[in-house]
Amino acid sequence: MMRIPIMRPCFTDEEALLVAETLKTGWVAQGPRVAEFERLVAKYEGVRFGVAATSCTAALHLLFAALGVREGFDVIVPSYTFVATANAVEYTGANAVLADVRTDTYNIDPEGLERLLESRYEGGVNKQTGNKLFGIAAVHLFGLCADIPAINAVAAKYGVQVMEDAACALGASIDGRREGAFGNPSCLSFHPRKSITTGEGGMVLTDDPALAEHMRGLRSHGASVSEVQRHASKGYLLPDYDELGYNYRMTDIQAAVGVAQMRKIDEIAADRRRLAARYDALLPAAAPFLRAPFVPAGYGHAYQSYVTMMRADESSKAGIDEAREKRNALMDALEQAGIATRQGTHAVHTLGYYREKYGYRAEDLLGAYACDRLSLALPLYAGMTDPEQDYVIEKLRELYH
Ligand SMILES: *Cc1c(COP(=O)(O)O)cnc(C)c1O
Repeated sequence: MMRIPIMRPCFTDEEALLVAETLKTGWVAQGPRVAEFERLVAKYEGVRFGVAATSCTAALHLLFAALGVREGFDVIVPSYTFVATANAVEYTGANAVLADVRTDTYNIDPEGLERLLESRYEGGVNKQTGNKLFGIAAVHLFGLCADIPAINAVAAKYGVQVMEDAACALGASIDGRREGAFGNPSCLSFHPRKSITTGEGGMVLTDDPALAEHMRGLRSHGASVSEVQRHASKGYLLPDYDELGYNYRMTDIQAAVGVAQMRKIDEIAADRRRLAARYDALLPAAAPFLRAPFVPAGYGHAYQSYVTMMRADESSKAGIDEAREKRNALMDALEQAGIATRQGTHAVHTLGYYREKYGYRAEDLLGAYACDRLSLALPLYAGMTDPEQDYVIEKLRELYH
């Protein structure tokens, strides 16, 4: 029996060598390696500035705090996303207002978004709570960009900010333009489940120099160095702390891993696309009960995950619940065969904190609920061999024929 994990980081000797080099310099906290990693990632995505942080969750918090998200504001978040997107909004004291997603792209539904804004807000004010609408945190789930042109248009109409959770989306694109370059700040993750990893890590990308500078201060306890001090360059003077900041600094040890990963990003990305195309080609015959991920025309999918859906009647909770039993049985059988699978991610409105605080019922956001109950992520990682992938395909064929 083969053992196929859901993911496996793609490390070679290069990561170990760069980490050793960094250790030898004696500079292990945030320093030159972090700056190098920021430049490499920003350049790859076609953005001016990268601001590294300890995780994508920290990067999202840093971004929201720097933009002024706080108590008394609402931020719209798709319900089908990793809970961190909504949590980062709630850290600031603002409310995460959950919106439904499309079950084909798994991303926020722009038409549903517009309906939500029309029904819930009057002159930008939440009719139930009195909160002001701050903006929309769009998520590019599993490496497929959300419909940013449509979301930007809705945001412009309401005069609110778009922020992108691009945790899974390094290298994803729309019409050849990479994630990060759609005119909004965005946040990447370097957790081992993502395309490249630094163990833990994240980064905010922005073209706005003032925003980048503000976040550099906030990630370092809110430190600001006055112009006088800067010009005198008296290193022994402590900076001023005008704002409540955080310690969200990435270490140079982590960034050394990141720099080594970025040196082979093109090969990693190409391998992921190749494996996804192979699943696309082989799944319809082997596992017709699964729906392959949908990629709209002009979109470049980064395939952080290869997430399928059990075909089902998605129009009712009962239909979804029934098909969910089949999905779970399939996941159990695959596990028995040595193949690790996961559901894509969870519907945030069904999680205890959000359910209790806002009183959601499962069927309130049926698209997100369907994705939660019916999604099935198959193993995919750079370096996965054809025999490994064939084993997954063959087991799927055996189990349901
Ligand atoms: C992984 C993930 C995060 C969190 O990233 P961390 O680096 O683990 O904090 C946030 N949002 C989405 C959509 C994710 O997939």
